[in-house]
Amino acid sequence: MPRDHEIAELAHLIEGACQAVVFTGAGISTESGIPDFRSPGGIWTRMAPIDFSDFLASEEARRETWRRRFEADDMWRSALPNRGHRAVAELVRRGTVAAVITQNIDGLHQASGVHTAQVIELHGNSTYAHCLDCARRYEIAELRVAFERDGTAPFCDACGGWIKTATISFGQAMPVEAMRRAEIETLAADLFIVAGSSLVVYPAAGFPELAKRNGAVLIIVNREPTGLDPIADLVLNRAIGETLGEVVGVD
Ligand SMILES: [Zn+2]
Repeated sequence: MPRDHEIAELAHLIEGACQAVVFTGAGISTESGIPDFRSPGGIWTRMAPIDFSDFLASEEARRETWRRRFEADDMWRSALPNRGHRAVAELVRRGTVAAVITQNIDGLHQASGVHTAQVIELHGNSTYAHCLDCARRYEIAELRVAFERDGTAPFCDACGGWIKTATISFGQAMPVEAMRRAEIETLAADLFIVAGSSLVVYPAAGFPELAKRNGAVLIIVNREPTGLDPIADLVLNRAIGETLGEVVGVD
């Protein structure tokens, strides 16, 4: 299908939707300069992720986890929402999109203006931290100052528990509430748009499958083919920002 027909078809399907869900992965945020950790050549092919059980068991693993987080702090802090995020935010503002389910941990949907209540983070959020025991929130900048001064992994002032970025690590249970909300939104959707996910990480990648089985129209916008392309109603192997930006009419 020529590109202009793809865009026209995408616009047509979005216009016909009453309650859409957008599901985003790393591909939407690489356009904001955030590397895809899982991609070939990505950071996880050079440096193995630290398992949650090791984080709990070892001060050295905790220190290394935090050292890596602070090393990447400039990248996290300088990343801004891009055209793809703005297009998604505009669809939320218009009421077409009821919820954004994301595998990303960068907070860029919220930064682009989507209300926190409409963003479902399946893998948590790296832009702040919390105590693993009492859930008290901590800001990265403050933790960094203390870490650079003391060289020890941070623990909670209130209860003594370990502080960790609010992300879901390897070996850590999926967040129950986020998974529940994602399922509810998926089952309520008449249109499900995947943007920038290669759909290889389960259980997260099960949501588009669930939406399709439940009768929703499934659209996949991703640079590379995905395993769910055969069941999708429309597949666009294109850049996210340019594609959604053109369809929604945002720069
Ligand atoms: Zn605590």
